[in-house]
Amino acid sequence: MTELLFRDDAYLRSCNARVTAADERGIRLDRTVFYPTGGGQPGDTGILRLASGEAIAIVDTVKGDGPDEVIHIPAPGCAAPPPGTEVLAEIDWERRHRLMRMHSCLHLLCAAVPGAVTGGQVSDGRGRLDFDVPGSSLEKEAIAARLNELIAAGHEVAPRWITDEELAARPELVRTMSVKPPSGAGQVRLMAVAGVDLQPCGGTHIRNTAEIGPVTIAKIENKGRQNRRIIVAFAD
Ligand SMILES: [Zn+2]
Repeated sequence: MTELLFRDDAYLRSCNARVTAADERGIRLDRTVFYPTGGGQPGDTGILRLASGEAIAIVDTVKGDGPDEVIHIPAPGCAAPPPGTEVLAEIDWERRHRLMRMHSCLHLLCAAVPGAVTGGQVSDGRGRLDFDVPGSSLEKEAIAARLNELIAAGHEVAPRWITDEELAARPELVRTMSVKPPSGAGQVRLMAVAGVDLQPCGGTHIRNTAEIGPVTIAKIENKGRQNRRIIVAFAD
């Protein structure tokens, strides 16, 4: 098991850690600031620095077999450090911050567009959500205006934990049908955008919607009779 430091503080850029295992799949640490791919958010990239001064480039981060298991994937050709090695684990913060801004922006998009969400993906500089809505009921400029209004309003974003039973009793909280809420451990993590949106989410988020900055709706695509894909991009 890995201690997931990003879960309590998404703004941590680095941490000291110890290698617990290293094999052909990648490197495992006792604690990490690296977010593993999941919930529509890509895994972090970065560097593991050794006391010798050697730096191991991490090109991706994924989940392992068990819960809370994180695998740091080194660049091809990097020799994996043996278990017990002390490292300084540093994420590519600029990239992660963009992912956090876009991820939080997609929560606002959920609130700006009525209808069930059938899928979503955050990527660097862009994000998309698929909505189960009929016809051409979505208007690009109106959605962009609503989204930018929610961003500029400076709503607080913070995690909150509830029990599996509480979540089961409130199915309306699960907006994204394709992303299974991170439950099963007795507690479910929710992300709350104060007064705007509340839903199960294990991802990393900014603290205030104003930090997202201005966005545009790049495109609205037809992906079937009832499926509309909304693609958001940063305006700057
Ligand atoms: Zn989220």
